[in-house]
Amino acid sequence: MKKIFLSTAFFAFSLVIIGPGCSGSKTENKEQKVAEQYQCPMKCTEEVFTKPGKCPVCEMDLEKISNS
Ligand SMILES: [Zn+2]
Repeated sequence: MKKIFLSTAFFAFSLVIIGPGCSGSKTENKEQKVAEQYQCPMKCTEEVFTKPGKCPVCEMDLEKISNS
């Protein structure tokens, strides 16, 4: 009897650990897929950059664009 209870408890315990862990990492991947975009605040070039830096034309710091 005690053995059956233990295996049932272990099964439920595994579900609790695996369940939220799976959905949690899925959400994380989705957020990482949304690439950040940066553009010159003066818009002297229409080029969009995927990482922060400086505008190659006016050398101002690039501004983050919210693309939602
Ligand atoms: Zn610029």
